[in-house]
Formats: sequence, C-alpha cells, structure tokens
Amino acid sequence: MLDNFRHKGLRKKMIDYLNLNRGISNPLVLSALLKVPRHAFLDSSFLEFAYDDQPFPIGSGQTISSLYTVAFQTQLLDVNPKEKVLEIGTGSGYQTAVLAEMGAMIYSIERHRALYKKAKKTLSSLHYRANLIYGDGYLGLENEAPFDKILVTCGAAELPPLLLKQLKLGGQMVIPIGFKEQIMTHICKDLEGNIVKNEHEKCQFVPLLRDRE
Ligand code: SAH
Repeated sequence: MLDNFRHKGLRKKMIDYLNLNRGISNPLVLSALLKVPRHAFLDSSFLEFAYDDQPFPIGSGQTISSLYTVAFQTQLLDVNPKEKVLEIGTGSGYQTAVLAEMGAMIYSIERHRALYKKAKKTLSSLHYRANLIYGDGYLGLENEAPFDKILVTCGAAELPPLLLKQLKLGGQMVIPIGFKEQIMTHICKDLEGNIVKNEHEKCQFVPLLRDRE
C-alpha cells in the first residue's frame, strides 16, 4: 500500500487542524492518527476524501466516522498501551488500527460479514494486530471480559447491559446513546462498581443493530 508524501502531507495538515482548532491534544492519539494511513481504509476511487473531515460510505450501507469523531472518541477513551480494549462496530477497521497503533490489545466486533472480511484483509495487509470477531456486539465478548476500555462506534438506543457488565472496575466506556441523534456518552465504572456518566456533544452514527448479517 502506497503511503506517499502527498498522503503524509494531507494527513499532517488535517491532524494539525484537529489539534489547533478542535481540542484534540492527547499526544498518544495525535501520533497514532499521524501514523495510520487512513486512505487504505477507503476504496481507492475515494482517495482524496480520506483526509477530509467528514463521514464516508464504506459499503453495506455503513460509514467510516469523520476523522474528528474518531479522534474525539479515542481521546475520551484515554487508552494506554497494553490495555485490553473492546470495540463494537469494526466497519472499515480504521478506528481499530488507531487503537492498535496506540498499543492497545484490541478486540473488535462487526455484524456485517462483508465488512468484517474486508477489515480483516486491510488490517493484516498493514500488519496491525487486532482480534476481529464476526458477531453481535450488543452481547459483547464474554470469553475475553473484563475490558479496560470499551468503545462503541454505532449509535445505541440504550446502554447495552452486557457491555457495562464486561467493563473492568476502574474501566471506561465511550458510547453514542440515542435514537436518530445521539449524545456522546463517557461512562466510568469506579473501583466499587459505581457508574458515573458524563454527556458530551451531539453526534450521528449508524445504528447499533442486533444479530449478524
Ligand atoms: N469504527 C468504524 C465505524 C463504523 S460505522 C470505522 O472506523 O470505520 C459502525 C459499524 O457498526 C458498522 O459497520 C455497523 O455494521 C456496525 N454495527 C452496528 N451494529 C452492530 C452490532 N450489534 N455489532 C457489531 N457491529 C455493529
């Protein structure tokens, strides 16, 4: 996969913008965004859109989140190297790659078979280590629980109870909650198991649906 000067230049420009104008300041997040070749996760005909700050179709009626949304969610999640992270909604695999680049041990679930297969191919061609699962993320991943962090990249009508259960004591979850429009919600489970919820900005994600396709 070609990652030439033009790609690197566009990427740097976009990430500088997110840093200077959109409050993305976590150095681990910024350096991961600088490294992951986002254009590899889009069809080649859409190459010039890879570093635009907007969502984009990735097939099967789904979209890759805008760069700002990925950056914002990742910063809220406050991921540290070696943490065990569960992502719901692999989609293109771009967000998965960003988490892997930050050194997380990442498990990511996708309910669309075609997207799951494509993301698997893209991530392995870029040599990212990620455990991809074809399944219903609403149920989480009981076998691998508990997780330090859980990131949901589709809109959930409510907080899925099994995900909350699979979050470690002291763990954090970032999840857009709402029906047509969602509120980006940051959830902390303290060491006694109490839940603290913080609501952030409004957002629009494709819905979290049940079962596989
Ligand atoms: N993180 C992705 C964004 C993908 S969009 C990226 O970087 O490209 C959200 C994804 O969530 C879609 O691919 C959709 O198929 C998936 N999804 C929706 N409901 C799901 C569920 N119950 N389990 C797993 N994946 C789900």
